[in-house]
Amino acid sequence: MKKILIVGGVAGGASAAARLRRHSEEDQIIMFEKGPHVSFSNCCLPYHLGGTIKEAEDLVLMSPEKFIKQYNIEARINNEVISIDRDSKNIRVKNTLTGKEYNESYDKLILSPGAKPIVPNIPGIEKINHFSIRNVTDIDNLNKFIKSSNSRNISVIGGGVIGVETCENLKEAGYNVTLIEAANQIMKPFDYDMVQILHKELVDKGINLIVEDKVCSFENKNVILESGKKINADTIIMAIGVLPETELAKNSGLELGPLGGIKTDSNYMTNDENIYAVGDAIEVYGALFNDYFKLPLAGPAQKQARSVADHINGMKINNKGFIGSSVIKVFDYNGASTGLTEEFIKMKKMNIHYNVIWAIPGDGVGLMPSSNPLHFKLIYEVPSGRILGAQAIGKGNVDKRIDVIATGIKLNATIDDLKDLELCYAPPFGTAKDVVNFGGYIASNLLNGDYKQISFSKVRNLVEENAYIIDVREKDEFELSHIINAKNIPLSEFRERINEIPKDIPVYLHCRSGQRSYNAALIMENLGFKNSCSIAGGFMGLSFYEYFNDLTLNRPKIVTGYNFD
Ligand code: FAD
Repeated sequence: MKKILIVGGVAGGASAAARLRRHSEEDQIIMFEKGPHVSFSNCCLPYHLGGTIKEAEDLVLMSPEKFIKQYNIEARINNEVISIDRDSKNIRVKNTLTGKEYNESYDKLILSPGAKPIVPNIPGIEKINHFSIRNVTDIDNLNKFIKSSNSRNISVIGGGVIGVETCENLKEAGYNVTLIEAANQIMKPFDYDMVQILHKELVDKGINLIVEDKVCSFENKNVILESGKKINADTIIMAIGVLPETELAKNSGLELGPLGGIKTDSNYMTNDENIYAVGDAIEVYGALFNDYFKLPLAGPAQKQARSVADHINGMKINNKGFIGSSVIKVFDYNGASTGLTEEFIKMKKMNIHYNVIWAIPGDGVGLMPSSNPLHFKLIYEVPSGRILGAQAIGKGNVDKRIDVIATGIKLNATIDDLKDLELCYAPPFGTAKDVVNFGGYIASNLLNGDYKQISFSKVRNLVEENAYIIDVREKDEFELSHIINAKNIPLSEFRERINEIPKDIPVYLHCRSGQRSYNAALIMENLGFKNSCSIAGGFMGLSFYEYFNDLTLNRPKIVTGYNFD
């Protein structure tokens, strides 16, 4: 019989405990949780603010009583592990209600203490009502406070997943919400070109979104920004990120990694063979860039926990590292991302040759009322075609597409593999050739050199340089709105009007989403033109890309209007 102690009773801790029990009926398993709840849904916390989850208690999935009855696992709530004596293999525990301390011995110890929200010491913070969101008590306190204090104006600081989900839920509950982000974009799992769709959705739904501006101080119910802007706020929610909870590990001489998380080997073992660590507190191996990174997500925490339970019970684990897959709902839009983003590749200064495709096909058959444009970006290595990452944003099932790509990445798939994938199809669900297949087609066409493309994000430069742009949409579409100075030669007239097109300067072709301009580019290639380039993502991609900055930067527009559908 082994005695296994676990620090932390939520995602990683509870998963490890349950798996350990499935391995052995004899082992003694005790889980220590410093808070009043074990096994609650952190990911659902923001949905209590919007009323989707009515009662805070509903966020708690298991009780200590259920753990005993169903799993014979002892879950000691309100018990904080305050130190580890590695020589004698004992932990010191403090009951947070009574203050009483005691020792507990272990054969194996698993650390899953999670992460703590960063609350910077901004001048004036002590004078303003501020909250952060990590557990059921936090969300319950916040919800009760904004209701009882009649808060109207709430500022959320930080545009990561917690900040954005919190904004949406507060808005749905009827508050005036400002979201302040110091970087030039929210949601780092998305590249700047893709995230503009989410920026637009937030402002369309009434969020006062401020990017590229830092909070300097708080004064008299105002948030003062570096730009000089003052935002009136009764309540502040800090969501600028989390730091691994490492005090316990550090104080007991366990090694930390260069990013400040607990260092573990591929079996999640620390530098002490009897102590493992999982979840938000550790650094994980990045399978796509051969280095460690922090990945504070529930799925990885639970998978690591299962692996540790297996390893303690003598099973080999196959840790291939992590690629990072995530999904978010932002009002009417869903966004999913996996693997590397372009911004990450640049930030890490990765020595890698890659290319990118953008496409905006329908997520279902166009005749079906449920069909919507699906904005898709795929990043792949050149010349191998190995898939490196993908992002999808739309009103429908983006996670299905990104999950397929994530699976492909884990199995070392290339763009050629995407072409052949047999994915489910019926009109309410998708198209006979899914966007994932299209990704493979477009990428391999580009890799073969069949045609050239440029991103919609480069169009502003083209317009400023007075480049030769042809809009191949039909006349009525062009008349509704178009790029300033673009010439209209509809695809249906393209062949008969080919002589109007110059051969000696670059010619940029676009349509609504990139499909017709791809055909026009091929007509030109096949007729001997060497100067055509299709604008990927087309006028719709451009409209989404330009909109938020047009609205907030007070700059000249490069389109006569927008087309968002
Ligand atoms: P946790 O689940 O946080 O558990 C750690 C526990 O350890 C805490 O309860 C803490 O009180 C306890 N503890 C710490 N120190 C001690 C100690 N010394 N003694 C005793 N107990 C201790 N991830 C997703 O994948 N998708 C999402 O949509 C998503 N949404 C999220 C929304 C919110 C609001 C939050 C806060 C997180 C969200 N996450 C999401 C992240 C996800 O919840 C975490 O990655 C995951 O819970 C990490 O698991 P963990 O076991 O490492 O830490």
